[in-house]
Amino acid sequence: ATKRQYESLTEEQAIVYAKKLGLFSDELELECSEIGDGNLNYVFRIRDPKNGKGIIIKQALPYAKVVGESWPLTLKRAKIEASALKKHGEFAAGLVPEVYAIDEELAITVMEDLSRLTIAREGLICLESYPKLSTDIGEYLAQTLFHTSDFALHPFEKKKLVSEFSNPELCKITEDLIFTDPFFDYETNDFESSLRVDVEAIWSNELLKLEVAKLKKSFLTEAEALLHGDLHTGSIFASEMETKVIDPEFAFYGPIGFDVGLFLANLIFQTITREGESRVVIFEHIEKTWEVFSSKFSELWKKEAVESYKDTKGFETYVLDKIFQDAIGFAGCELIRRTIGLAHVKDLDRIVDEEQRILAKKQALQIGELFILNRKEISSIQSVIELLEELQ
Ligand code: ADP
Ligand code: MG
Ligand code: MG
Ligand code: MG
Repeated sequence: ATKRQYESLTEEQAIVYAKKLGLFSDELELECSEIGDGNLNYVFRIRDPKNGKGIIIKQALPYAKVVGESWPLTLKRAKIEASALKKHGEFAAGLVPEVYAIDEELAITVMEDLSRLTIAREGLICLESYPKLSTDIGEYLAQTLFHTSDFALHPFEKKKLVSEFSNPELCKITEDLIFTDPFFDYETNDFESSLRVDVEAIWSNELLKLEVAKLKKSFLTEAEALLHGDLHTGSIFASEMETKVIDPEFAFYGPIGFDVGLFLANLIFQTITREGESRVVIFEHIEKTWEVFSSKFSELWKKEAVESYKDTKGFETYVLDKIFQDAIGFAGCELIRRTIGLAHVKDLDRIVDEEQRILAKKQALQIGELFILNRKEISSIQSVIELLEELQ
């Protein structure tokens, strides 16, 4: 029933497509609107207005609209995204949307409609309270990353997944935008002229660039686990009761600390913009994310790690220490690239007062540099929070 040749859907065609899949009966009058941000993908929301029940059809576009230009971008990422949602769902059911159908030719994922929830970045900016956010993300990280790693899998099974999730084009975007461009005078960078002094200090900081090169090498070479690959707060739906992780089109086998660090950095943007009690709430989320991740990871290790690792004294501690260090370093890169690189975060850009906004951005850069340079000396999540408290 499905088309064999790629074509991007219209809203009308999306309705026909959903009916053909048997997700709605033929006679229903359905509504459809395209609700995506429109840079890389279409997101169609199709619903029955009578009972509000709906589904989502996400379709990859064969190009990315970046800085007014159109760059070709592989459609294979739709298959990667759908497969990652399913694979992660095996271990963190309830923390990802359910996938109803995959269509490789049309680059489509049909999934659960999460419109009842809010994108966490938007909610956090509005000071919404998400009491479960950090416990759920800590759990999601531990379950997905442990279970797809060599600590849990037979090496044949793991290497099969490594090749299944080979995602070179999307990885290249990360390699450029997170680890390269912001640290050199590249055209893709985007920052206010009043930040130029700080940015030039980054470009000429050889020690910093050496540490970033090491982190980039880790991203390029360390196939530790199946990462989400883009775990910022815009990839998380939340409410007071639920958390769901979406949009793993950047999924690939990489260093475990990358997912952890990206999430922490995006919480840190909130600590920069908040004061008083509402800032403490975010400190608690930061602490809890790591506490839940590391204790759950440790518990899984004791119960499920393959024999050769399980009983080697000190190895579990070595692994968790490495993940922590990496996470702090990757968080530092994310803080810098979201401030002066191509893709910014609304948390900072929305600050209307110029002086306040620049101050917030200078803080993000300062924390980023400090994290990258001192990641080996920062020994605990509590000392991360002390650092953040001192810097403001
Ligand atoms: P992109 O890869 O283009 O960033 P996302 O998967 O992040 O696409 O989706 C873009 C937007 O579409 C989200 O911010 C959200 O508003 C909406 N969206 C995506 N998936 C769902 C879903 N399962 N349920 C409801 N809305 C969704
Ligand atoms: Mg988007
Ligand atoms: Mg997205
Ligand atoms: Mg995406």
